[in-house]
Amino acid sequence: MKMYPLGVGGAFTKSNFHNNYILQLNKTNLLIDAGTTLRNSITEANFSYTDIDFVYISHLHFDHVGGLEEMIMQRYWQFINGQHSPQKTKIIVHENLLLPLKKLLCNGLENQDHTIEDFCSFITLSDGEVYKIEDYEFSLFDTTNAHVKGMPSSGFKLSWQEGNIVFTGDIKWMDQVNILSKIDTNTVAIFQDISFTSNGVHASIQEVLNYYPTTLHGKLYGMHYNDNIEQFNDMLSQTNITLVKKHGVLEF
Ligand SMILES: [Zn+2]
Ligand SMILES: [Zn+2]
Repeated sequence: MKMYPLGVGGAFTKSNFHNNYILQLNKTNLLIDAGTTLRNSITEANFSYTDIDFVYISHLHFDHVGGLEEMIMQRYWQFINGQHSPQKTKIIVHENLLLPLKKLLCNGLENQDHTIEDFCSFITLSDGEVYKIEDYEFSLFDTTNAHVKGMPSSGFKLSWQEGNIVFTGDIKWMDQVNILSKIDTNTVAIFQDISFTSNGVHASIQEVLNYYPTTLHGKLYGMHYNDNIEQFNDMLSQTNITLVKKHGVLEF
């Protein structure tokens, strides 16, 4: 499995693009979140909207969903040899987000000639329910209230025969949703929201180090961080955490 970080920055990043990823399975590209910077970040990573087979949306902050409507529109309004050749967008969501996401998208997509179903189809998963893609198992876990109080959100786990990755999404209160219970001996990487200044809705580096047992620190991949990351290099070098960099390729 290859993982392309399109961006790794926080919501207000000016230099690192939003924290969105493409997971490349054997023949399937799964986009993880679609922030407002997607229109540029996807091109810089040499992908286009039409390369995407599935999109997973973790929650409705703009750095995760602000670019979705444009992507859906552009895939639908494709013309090949002058013929309208619409490509529907398949969206994977936790059941806690289905209605809020539909409501958001309907504003721009629905009109007298179109319903939202013309543009996209939804794959709704309950907590822990497995969705098979090729030989991979994709499942979601509820993180509602663990990022922002009262806001539905989720993270995911992708498993294959020899391993799995756990992706927290935006999160501050890992203990509230027992992230450790999603991790097992086959987990090769934990993608963790990490903040370098005290923050009400994202986990600080100290909170991350305190929450995870030291034996797991080497599996932590920090993401969704502030632009002034260089100031924290010394602090980071004293840990085993790997910082995800945009435009790199991770292979698991
Ligand atoms: Zn975010
Ligand atoms: Zn968020």
